[in-house]
Amino acid sequence: MEKVNYLAFALPAFFIFLFIEYQVVKYKKRQDIFKYESSITNISIGIAERLLNLFISASFYSLFYYIYEHYALLNIPNTWYTWILLILATDLVWYWYHRLGHEVNLLWAAHIVHHQSEEFNLTVAARITVFQALIRNVFWCVLPWVGFHPSLVIFILLFHGVYSFFTHTQIVGKLGWLEYIFITPSLHGVHHASNEKYLDKNYGDVFVFWDKLFGTFQREEEKPKYGLTHPIKSYSFLWQHFHYYLEIFEAFKRANTLKDKIRIAFGSPALMDQEIRPELEKKWLPHKSNDFQFRYQVYLNIQIAFSFLLMCVMTYYYSNLDSITKFTGAVLILITLINCGALMEQRRWIYYLEYARIILVLSYVLTVYGYIELTFIPIMLAIVIEQIFKPSVWYKHNIINIK
Ligand SMILES: [Zn+2]
Ligand SMILES: [Zn+2]
Repeated sequence: MEKVNYLAFALPAFFIFLFIEYQVVKYKKRQDIFKYESSITNISIGIAERLLNLFISASFYSLFYYIYEHYALLNIPNTWYTWILLILATDLVWYWYHRLGHEVNLLWAAHIVHHQSEEFNLTVAARITVFQALIRNVFWCVLPWVGFHPSLVIFILLFHGVYSFFTHTQIVGKLGWLEYIFITPSLHGVHHASNEKYLDKNYGDVFVFWDKLFGTFQREEEKPKYGLTHPIKSYSFLWQHFHYYLEIFEAFKRANTLKDKIRIAFGSPALMDQEIRPELEKKWLPHKSNDFQFRYQVYLNIQIAFSFLLMCVMTYYYSNLDSITKFTGAVLILITLINCGALMEQRRWIYYLEYARIILVLSYVLTVYGYIELTFIPIMLAIVIEQIFKPSVWYKHNIINIK
């Protein structure tokens, strides 16, 4: 019997709320809350996370059961108060997962991506990488280990994840007495701000009292300036994901003593040498410009819509797909998302991605129809077409705005 994942239907709800937010923003004449390039990168990162999460979530759910059956510390009965305890425990684990994500360099490398956006709107909620999802799942293992049944844990995590979606918006404003109990959009906006007094504040997800208890609470007082203290100013899908790992690697290489190396891996991000990023940018982003003017926005929109739809279809049918289809679908989506970032930054190598996509799809079709030994043909064909018709030259002149 076909087993399908109905969570796939929850994914389009994201765009319904985004549409509502955008209409309110337009009505209030606050379009500055959105920036096209920033929204595209946020959504791209979110699509990649939802896609790759398909490959890891089942293993973590099995791990929760394994830990619960073999190592559970307490025998927690399944009664009404178990739910309250579990909600509180989940939020407390989140507080420390999030706080350590800011205080431990290696964990910050995954979490920094969530904070790169200089705009603050619902698209930022999607800005979570698969590395962060991995780390988060490791932290969630604490819950079955304490003795909460994995099926309850998995159920609560769904709702816990949904809550933080709604705290990424500026259209709500302050919420009066609710701010004494819950993390509201205003309080989470403070967490996303780089104003001096807002740094390292409001780590909570649902409840506000963890921040008050551990001394990290801050009310919104002055206008928040959203984004990192040192913004990365790049829309590259790959650079946003990996720049901080490269920075840690570089700092690690430069450190002389073992103590310094350990400090770079597990110490505070505040101790990182600020000269490293500009140096790496020179090496990895040689044509970096802060003023991107790209053509063919429609082409980019179509690619994002295609990636999103394919990801939804893969989510729905995931358990019924064979490994080759899963692999091809995932690689196709990832190449398309890299393509979108490269298009916004006018990268010259972008047409290689176009070839890669065509070769991938043709090879997949040949494999499905039993001609796996013929998959060299699309590669040969691409080389011959490039030699004779030089589509790369046309691409450079028409798609990429090279002067
Ligand atoms: Zn954070
Ligand atoms: Zn956030």
